[in-house]
Amino acid sequence: MVESIKQQIDVLVKLQDIELEGSKLKIDLDKISERIGMLDSELKEFENKMKEAESRIHPLQKAYRLYESDVEINQATLRKSHEKLASVKNNKEYQSILKEIDDMKNKNSQIEDKMIECLNTMDEVEHTVKRMRKEYSSLSEKNKIEKEDIYIRLDQGKQKLDDIYREWETVSKTVEPELMKQYLQLKEQIKGGVMAPVKNSVCDGCHMNIPAQMYNELQRFDSLKYCPFCRRIIYWKN
Ligand SMILES: [Zn+2]
Repeated sequence: MVESIKQQIDVLVKLQDIELEGSKLKIDLDKISERIGMLDSELKEFENKMKEAESRIHPLQKAYRLYESDVEINQATLRKSHEKLASVKNNKEYQSILKEIDDMKNKNSQIEDKMIECLNTMDEVEHTVKRMRKEYSSLSEKNKIEKEDIYIRLDQGKQKLDDIYREWETVSKTVEPELMKQYLQLKEQIKGGVMAPVKNSVCDGCHMNIPAQMYNELQRFDSLKYCPFCRRIIYWKN
């Protein structure tokens, strides 16, 4: 596997390009996966609001039944007052029972107002719940369709990522083992790519000026050179 320095550099640059392609794709796939979480929480949030609205119905029904029984009790009292009225002995007593009857009628009328109010609220809430259930079902359907599409895209992306990894493996096997070891070590230490082209004497990795002597040597491709500033493997590129 004796290759020229130029060939070795070309292979390492290719490896780095493959790595870059892989990490870009991985970032894309992560973003796509995040969208699933967003869709799920959007639906969950709506569901919670809907449940909150649904939970208002039962207390209203309960309140309405309580008003109903209050009215019944009051009506029973009213009937008794009317019976008393028939056997009353004097005017004072008569007036007092009439007042009782009047008070009771007022009370019932107030309760009936509240019952109407309660019915109206119940109507509104039930209407809201009905609308929300409809919206929930269409949102859930819309999210389901989008998620299905996302899963397909994720699957395709993962297959592509596998292809990229496989290509990396294949290409890496063509690199001298010692050089590969060195490359991997540098990759761990240096963020943002080990291979850096030098254009117009400037290292593309750290943007520092390469010494003139080194720059001249670079153009001959007779040995591997390292940037004296960032330690990347540098190569001449015109
Ligand atoms: Zn550098």
